[in-house]
Amino acid sequence: MTVITRFAPSPTGLLHIGGARTALFNYLFARSNNGKYVLRIEDTDRERSTKEAVEAIINGLDWLKLSGDEQPIYQYSRQERHREVVNTLLKQGKAYKCYCSAHELEEIRALARREGKTALYDRRWREKDPTTAPPNVNPVVRLKSPLKGSTMIDDLVQGRVAVKNEQLDDFVILRADGTPTYMLSVVVDDHDMEISHVIRGDDHLNNAFRQYQIYAAMDWPTPKFAHIPLIHGQDGTKLSKRHGALGIDAYKDQGYLPEALCNYLLRLGWGHENEEIITREQAIALFEIGAVGKSPSRFDIKKLDNINSTYMREMSEARLSHLIETHLFKNLNVTLDPIKLERLNRGLSGLKLRAKNINELAASAMIYIVSPPINMDEKADNILSKDARQLIRGLLEPLNKLTNWSKTEIEETLKNFATCRDIKFGSVAQPLRAALTGTTSSPDIFEVIEILGKEEVVQRIEAVC
Ligand code: GLU
Repeated sequence: MTVITRFAPSPTGLLHIGGARTALFNYLFARSNNGKYVLRIEDTDRERSTKEAVEAIINGLDWLKLSGDEQPIYQYSRQERHREVVNTLLKQGKAYKCYCSAHELEEIRALARREGKTALYDRRWREKDPTTAPPNVNPVVRLKSPLKGSTMIDDLVQGRVAVKNEQLDDFVILRADGTPTYMLSVVVDDHDMEISHVIRGDDHLNNAFRQYQIYAAMDWPTPKFAHIPLIHGQDGTKLSKRHGALGIDAYKDQGYLPEALCNYLLRLGWGHENEEIITREQAIALFEIGAVGKSPSRFDIKKLDNINSTYMREMSEARLSHLIETHLFKNLNVTLDPIKLERLNRGLSGLKLRAKNINELAASAMIYIVSPPINMDEKADNILSKDARQLIRGLLEPLNKLTNWSKTEIEETLKNFATCRDIKFGSVAQPLRAALTGTTSSPDIFEVIEILGKEEVVQRIEAVC
């Protein structure tokens, strides 16, 4: 069997964490089975679908390297085909027109609820003679769902799940205005696109039982289903904004790396021997849909931060440097001259150990980029008391005299300076760090001094003394 999977988002909002994970699982399943993975934009809800949401989905997937293998398919453009299938079902007596008015339907539903029934429509037009239809009423089309027996699905994640058919409605497949419903369109598209595996959130499990009836009525083979548990927040409820969950573009803006985000999403629900860091290549080799857990996983931003830092530490410095440059240009309109760029590149190995994301890294890299007089944060300003300023002014001479500007010599000079004055080394290092970086935390101070170079260090000290 050729494996074909799809990610089928409705473009009614941002591409969120849950959607991205569904895309990832579809992608990995296809890749690990030498199959194809496609994107279908389910834009049939014309009121709620927006161009911006389509763009956010396409850009988000592109950033995560989860774009489909082919051009996306837009569901709305396939309406004629969906209607054709409705007509086939009508002709074969597997669907029927229902002429109930909205008011009548409300009454029927109220009664069903009072009687405790799950199926809310009483199927009154199923056998009725269509010639008795009221005039000037546009009917909806409903599928004749089976009245007896049960429908069973062997779900690749949930296991065997079944419902009694009496619980299924004769649900609407074509609205009174002639537009096909989601339930119908999904099945027709999955069939026509030869989707072999439908992998999606388990909030669609109930739909699967209904969709199954359309496959059966059309005598089409059903795809395999895999309904993956939703992602929850720390409090165990469905993940939402209030848990700090954001659209994918917000994670990009906050400086997370796409490969780290994908790694984190992969671990939300799937794992391999407690490994936290699993690259895309490893994931393709190891991923098994049957190993996805049945219970919801909890979104944990700290874990994402950890994974992101790990990826940053292991990333090539050339790429990190490029990401920082892009960030600085985009957000601060700062471009780096060759000297600053060289400083940044030399400082990266020290800086990257301390940052959780590219934004933090870029902010910390500013120590190599700013020109004196530099801005002081509040703590740095407090440390630079009058006495402290005077003390570090005394460093100008020995530093100026240094002929070999290396970390070791710098360290020796600073330590001698403290010893001669009989003060702790920290009493020199702290104000010096404040003067040179405008902050109270930075990579190793000797390294910072070495990278900044003599001229810059002297200028920065002079600027505060
Ligand atoms: N368009 C649906 C959604 O965004 C998904 C449909 C499906 O995967 O079958 O929830």
